[in-house]
Amino acid sequence: MGHSNPILPDIKQRDCMSEHSKPLNFIEQIIAKDLEEGTTAQVITRFPPEPNGHLHIGHAKAICLNFGLAQTFGGVCNLRFDDTNPTKEEQEYVDAIKRDVSWLGYEWAGEVKYASDYFDTFYVWAQHLVREGKAYVCDLSAEESSAYRGWATKPGKASPYRERSVDENLDLLERMKQGEFEEGHSVLRAKIDMASPNMQMRDPILYRIRKESHHQTGDQWCIYPSYDFAHGQEDAIEGVSHSVCTLEFADHKPLYDWFLDNLPVPSRPRQFEFARLELNYTITSKRKLKQLVDEGYVDAWNDPRMPTVSGMRRRGYSPASIRNFCELIGVTKSASSIDVGMLEYAVRDDLNATAPRAMCVLDPVKVTFTNLPEDWQETMTLPVHPNREDLGERAMPFTQTLFIDRADFTEDQTLSRKKFKRLVLGEWVRLRGAYIIKAEEAVKNEAGEITEILATIVPDTVGADAPEGIRPRGVIHWVSATDNIDCEVRLYDRLFNDEAPDGGDKQFLDHINPDSLTVLKGCKAERGLARAEAEHSYQFEREGYFCLDSEHSTQTLPVFNRAIGLKDNWKK
Ligand code: ATP
Ligand code: MG
Repeated sequence: MGHSNPILPDIKQRDCMSEHSKPLNFIEQIIAKDLEEGTTAQVITRFPPEPNGHLHIGHAKAICLNFGLAQTFGGVCNLRFDDTNPTKEEQEYVDAIKRDVSWLGYEWAGEVKYASDYFDTFYVWAQHLVREGKAYVCDLSAEESSAYRGWATKPGKASPYRERSVDENLDLLERMKQGEFEEGHSVLRAKIDMASPNMQMRDPILYRIRKESHHQTGDQWCIYPSYDFAHGQEDAIEGVSHSVCTLEFADHKPLYDWFLDNLPVPSRPRQFEFARLELNYTITSKRKLKQLVDEGYVDAWNDPRMPTVSGMRRRGYSPASIRNFCELIGVTKSASSIDVGMLEYAVRDDLNATAPRAMCVLDPVKVTFTNLPEDWQETMTLPVHPNREDLGERAMPFTQTLFIDRADFTEDQTLSRKKFKRLVLGEWVRLRGAYIIKAEEAVKNEAGEITEILATIVPDTVGADAPEGIRPRGVIHWVSATDNIDCEVRLYDRLFNDEAPDGGDKQFLDHINPDSLTVLKGCKAERGLARAEAEHSYQFEREGYFCLDSEHSTQTLPVFNRAIGLKDNWKK
């Protein structure tokens, strides 16, 4: 013991040097110490989701933490489904969770694991507790049981079934398992302390009867272990060294340890708690997210407005941006709400560095150049990314008619240059990667709406400075009116219009933002976007980051989701 661990030097270095280094968080400090002192030989962590919904941003934090600890300390991390409650669980969720963890960039150790893999062992261990006089079958109804339990300041009362003999308990437990009793007839409880100040220790439930098929074990079982009777034992069976969970489980720790003390477990994991991630304007509860889906407030779990991993993926967030966000917020022991702007910042920061550029006109108005012939064909060459030469160049046809965004033109010549850095009647603007142009005339229909802008190009201004006396107000984006693709664009706003939709006694459904989705039809994009792939974001110049929607796009009409706008409103 106490021999030096080959992993440690790196960790220590990370602590004090390298530009990316950050001080170790409190869990990393504990693990570093355990390795140094030799109390831990190999770091084994786990991410233990219940397959009763899709993962959300809070789970992403737990994933980054658990898999990240394993990576940092040369250990491994298990993906283990906590599938002890068949009533709410489904195979579909198992599959979605596996996909989400992989997409976030993590690899679990060996096969996926399930609490249900260990049901036989749990049963044998339940019999063990009964034989030791530490568990009993209790026939109180749920209401009676809760009345007997007392409350924090009032000790509970012993169940009248507490003193059943070992033989009677073994027999009743076996009959529960054989399906002789109906749901709710009886439960198996640990015999600990009905007067404990910790409610969790007041003879907690170990098994309950559930006559339901299970997604992994089918109809093999009709009794299922409680979370508490399963979790620590799963950790012990898997040799988990550091079992990290959220703060609400701090109360359960004495019970976690009680099971480890009283069962013939093969290893001795330890539990550590950290603060849940809470984001403002966001719900992070699977139950409530499921309600949004079930009641039709959103399209599905992967609706791009959902804070689910699948929703963020479909919307165009990158896995790196989510990992960076989790790194940015760190790991603490005190609960606090994080500004959702910080997540958006992380997304923008990553996409800015990686996303190819493209042009898409969301609200097109036609511009015709009166000093170019009708059949004018010229090709403009633009970089795919301004700072990434390796990504190459793209070609954009420049023709006599183009589209620009309606909002990029005004007839109002009184607007200051500072206020309106776009095209004004009688003035100049630069078309991105192309000519400087001058607006000569606005053509209108009977209703007075502008239908076309007549303009002229300033010759020899592609890739060249403006000639004397010509001062373009700014740079705008464009696309050829005769060579482009049609597309639909979906803009998203926050799903909730209240900072804490879930706070106090608020009803989160009362705070849904009715304008969280805006669908723009008839948008015009540069032709290269016909090759866009779902989940890979582009920067549409001056508009934000967009990616092809995996569900609504068709062969003839691509649909683009705006992942995030360009403007950063997170105040550091
Ligand atoms: P929910 O309340 O959304 O259903 P949960 O905790 O019941 O969440 P689990 O599937 O049991 O969901 O969670 C798996 C792991 O993810 C647990 O270890 C849990 O502590 C962690 N986790 C869940 N929500 C958050 C969160 N908001 N922040 C950090 N970790 C979380
Ligand atoms: Mg849970």
